[in-house]
Amino acid sequence: MKDTAAYDLVIVGASFAGLVCARAAAIRRLRTLVLEAKRDPGARISTTGILVKEAAEEVDIPPHLTRTVHGVRLYSPSLRSVDLFAPGYYFLTSNTADLLRWLARDCQTAGVQMRCSTKLDRAVRQGEMIFLPQLGLRTRYLVGADGARSTVARLFDLGRNTKFLTGLEVEFPELPMADPDFLHCFLDSRLARGYLAWVAPAPGFFQAGLATNEDAKPDLRAFLTHTEKLFGFSKVSVKERRSGRIPCGGLVYPFAAPRVLLIGDAAGHVSPLTGGGIRLAFRYGRRAAQLIADHLTRHGPPPEAVLAREIPTMRKKLILRRVMNAPPPNWLYDMAIGTPLMNWFARKIYFHRRAGLGDRLETLEQHIKSSV
Ligand SMILES: Cc1cc2nc3c(=O)[nH]c(=O)nc-3n(C[C@H](O)[C@H](O)[C@H](O)COP(=O)(O)OP(=O)(O)OC[C@H]3O[C@@H](n4cnc5c(N)ncnc54)[C@H](O)[C@@H]3O)c2cc1C
Repeated sequence: MKDTAAYDLVIVGASFAGLVCARAAAIRRLRTLVLEAKRDPGARISTTGILVKEAAEEVDIPPHLTRTVHGVRLYSPSLRSVDLFAPGYYFLTSNTADLLRWLARDCQTAGVQMRCSTKLDRAVRQGEMIFLPQLGLRTRYLVGADGARSTVARLFDLGRNTKFLTGLEVEFPELPMADPDFLHCFLDSRLARGYLAWVAPAPGFFQAGLATNEDAKPDLRAFLTHTEKLFGFSKVSVKERRSGRIPCGGLVYPFAAPRVLLIGDAAGHVSPLTGGGIRLAFRYGRRAAQLIADHLTRHGPPPEAVLAREIPTMRKKLILRRVMNAPPPNWLYDMAIGTPLMNWFARKIYFHRRAGLGDRLETLEQHIKSSV
């Protein structure tokens, strides 16, 4: 008789990493279940949801869920600014709640079963299987895509994130004074110690936020007051507030045990420098599903052995994170903004390998012309 409560793969967490993993697993014919603590994957979002170009290339997202932004306007603490572009580069800002709902529907179409309002709190190994007592079901493989403070990591004694940035953000339905063609990024060692503050245009709304390292408490109100003359926040009402912790200590170790694997934030797949995790969640979420399917159906190698070779160690970014944790005084940022060295460095961070040599600053029109 068929064991109806047995799955090939149970994934804990229906966000970027878990949903991309689940869809790829179901397409490879694994019987896949996703458990999500929230009532729906798009509820209580805690991310800005900006996709760098490389993330946008991993998943084919319907255009109405995103907005293309070509440039970064970088501000010094005294609010002097410089506009940065790189040929062919762009970001997608997203309606993250709807994007996650769309990813979840796509999973279900591929055959994934989804249980929301279900928080995993127990799991035990039973021979070759993992047993989830609270649900009375067993699985051949368990994936923890359950975020920065992973329950799966705790239950199986895996590595845990220990270093974090703390992010606060508010959403405005509109911000008429903001130039929507730019991500507005603010260097300020007092207000956004160890990271940045930002104002980001999204499809149909705007987000303003900041993150700080553990030496400082984020004070979003102070940032909104400081930049009021640029954006006129006081004239617009706040639609939503969000907050969250961003792992910035690099990969956790160990990230797997037999038939148990962590992906996404749970595994520390977040750039320690930029705090971006969506690209790695997409890439290694999907890759994990391919490797698990190979392992379970074609006697492929243990997924963790392959992933350990493929996932970048982020050593250079961890060194830069240490530098950013003790940021320069604000007067130095004010002096450096717009200098060739600073522009080069900023372009390197924002546009990765596309930064190029030299210091080619363009207007938006020139940039779009050179990109097509
Ligand atoms: C303020 C802020 C802004 C950010 N902005 C960006 C950005 O613009 N671009 C970018 O690339 N990255 C950004 N990040 C980082 C990015 O959001 C994360 O790297 C990304 O969300 C990680 O995805 P994930 O699927 O691994 O985990 P998460 O998105 O954290 O999702 C984990 C899921 O697991 C569920 N879960 C947790 N525990 C359980 C349990 N026990 N049982 C069942 N379900 C459970 C949670 O409810 C959640 O749905 C930001 C982070 C923050 C905090």
